[in-house]
Amino acid sequence: MQNPSTLEVVRVRHPLKFRLLRVARVVPLSPALVRITLAGDLSDFVSASFDDHIKVFFPRDGADHPVMPTPGPDGPVLPEGATRAEMRDYTPCRFDTDAGELDLEFALHEAGPATAWAANAKPGDYLGIGGPRGSLMIPSGFDWHLLIGDETALPAIQRRLTELPPGTRVAVVVEVANRAARIALPTETDLYAIWCYRDEAQSENPLLEAVDEVWLPPGNGYVWAAGEASAIRAVRTHLVNDRGVDKKRIRASAYWRRGAQAAHETIDD
Ligand SMILES: Cc1cc2nc3c(=O)[nH]c(=O)nc-3n(C[C@H](O)[C@H](O)[C@H](O)COP(=O)(O)OP(=O)(O)OC[C@H]3O[C@@H](n4cnc5c(N)ncnc54)[C@H](O)[C@@H]3O)c2cc1C
Repeated sequence: MQNPSTLEVVRVRHPLKFRLLRVARVVPLSPALVRITLAGDLSDFVSASFDDHIKVFFPRDGADHPVMPTPGPDGPVLPEGATRAEMRDYTPCRFDTDAGELDLEFALHEAGPATAWAANAKPGDYLGIGGPRGSLMIPSGFDWHLLIGDETALPAIQRRLTELPPGTRVAVVVEVANRAARIALPTETDLYAIWCYRDEAQSENPLLEAVDEVWLPPGNGYVWAAGEASAIRAVRTHLVNDRGVDKKRIRASAYWRRGAQAAHETIDD
């Protein structure tokens, strides 16, 4: 069992930087998830945790590139008279600062500026990014890790599975629309993966139903969960109230909220 003193979760800050990048490649991973590789000057890009996010800036009204702010003493500053770009949060899934490449993965859903942009993206298109502004460093040395989420959490889950040391004990519980939306999860961890499908689910919250079935091993574990706000809140409540997981050992986030645009929330009490 790990010494709990080495299992502290810490936050680190990064200088805020905005970049205009261009699409290099578009690879559909499933009918519901597309990987877009962006290229540009990423030499000083820093993303220290799988839990990180960047602000993504999308072009408006048929423009070929988004209006980008610059960092100012009191926060980001837009060019005079410019309309703010549409912005959404995305996970830096993979990056290579030498090659100047950054992969984002977009879950495609019914409608929204980010989904519309990603569904039509092609090499050469412009996209802006800002951040990450900081990282939550969750140690890898826990006795076990439980990663929970829907399509929007898959980029972070994939990154965590490539970054954890080989042999680490990990369970993932992923909810996707249907069997066609399942993707490969390459990893050298000791992975136990549970997939659940909305189109086959017996309940309103398939994620909760699947998490309820997961066995939690003894020892010091850490749970990371992200997805739709009410689904993740119910999962966290279940883990804390019914399974005795220490609140300090859960990072739960709303990556979107049904009926709301650009929602982001840390879920706690
Ligand atoms: C920290 C963080 C990291 C994230 N990382 C990723 C990532 O790597 N990949 C990713 O795909 N998403 C990620 N998301 C989620 C993404 O930012 C949201 O899904 C975002 O709302 C999508 O923007 P949009 O313009 O497509 O839709 P919006 O204009 O924001 O929303 C339009 C409508 O669609 C609904 N909606 C939004 N997202 C979904 C969805 N996934 N499924 C069904 N309906 C939805 C909304 O409730 C709203 O009714 C992340 C969110 C956060 C907070």
